[in-house]
Amino acid sequence: MRQRNKPWADDFLKENAQLIIPNPSEYKGKWSTLFGNNNPIHVEVGTGKGQFIVGMAKQYPNINFIGIELAKSIVVTAAQKVLEAGSSNVLLLNENAGDLVEIFAENEVSTIYLNFSDPWPKNRHEKRRLTYKAFLDQYKTILKQSGQVIFKTDNRGLFEYSLVSLTDYNMKLEEVNLDLHAIQDESNIMTEYEERFSAKGQPIYRLKASF
Ligand code: SAM
Repeated sequence: MRQRNKPWADDFLKENAQLIIPNPSEYKGKWSTLFGNNNPIHVEVGTGKGQFIVGMAKQYPNINFIGIELAKSIVVTAAQKVLEAGSSNVLLLNENAGDLVEIFAENEVSTIYLNFSDPWPKNRHEKRRLTYKAFLDQYKTILKQSGQVIFKTDNRGLFEYSLVSLTDYNMKLEEVNLDLHAIQDESNIMTEYEERFSAKGQPIYRLKASF
C-alpha cells in the first residue's frame, strides 16, 4: 500500500491514544476491559486504510474489532475513518503482526482476518508471508478452539501457497472460494484493495480455516 510521509502522524497517535493503543502488550488477556464488555474479539492483520474494519464494526456492533497495521502513515488514515464513523467497537494498533502472542493471551481471539496481505513472491521472503507457519503458530495460540482464520486475496500465487501452508499445518479448510464476488455474498465487506482489484475484473479468492 502506498505510504505518504505524514509529519503530523506522531502527534495524531499521541492525541488519539484511546483509539490507537500504545504499549498494547499491557492489555494482553485484558482487551475486554478496554472495550467495556465481553463481546468476541476479531483481529484484522494489515488493516490498511480501515474500510473493512469500519464496515465490519457497523455491520456487527456486538463484536469488538482490533486492527493491526504496521505503517504509521496508514494507520492514521484508518483511525480517521474510525473517528468519522464513531465506531465504539474498534481499536487500532500500530504494530507488527510478528508480535501477536505478546499482545493477545491464549484463546483471547475469535477470528483473524488477513485481507490482501503482501504476497512476498520471492522464495527467500517466504517467512514474511502472513500464512507462513510461524504466523500460523501465533494464530493458533491466540485463537479460541472454534476460532477461524479468514483470508481474502486477489493473488493466486499467495492463495495457492496459503492452501498448502494451512493444509501442511493440519488446519481444517472450511471454505475455499475461487471467485468470491460471483456468489453475491451481501455480508461481504470489501477492503480498499478488494474494490480496486475486482473493478479490474480480477477474481477475489477467500478461504476460511480453523485449527
Ligand atoms: N487490508 C488492506 C486492504 O485489503 O485494502 C491493505 C492491504 S495492503 C496490500 C497490506 C497492508 O498490510 C499494508 O498496509 C501493510 O503495511 C500491512 N502489513 C504488512 N505486513 C504487516 C505486518 N507484519 N503487521 C502489520 N501490518 C502489516
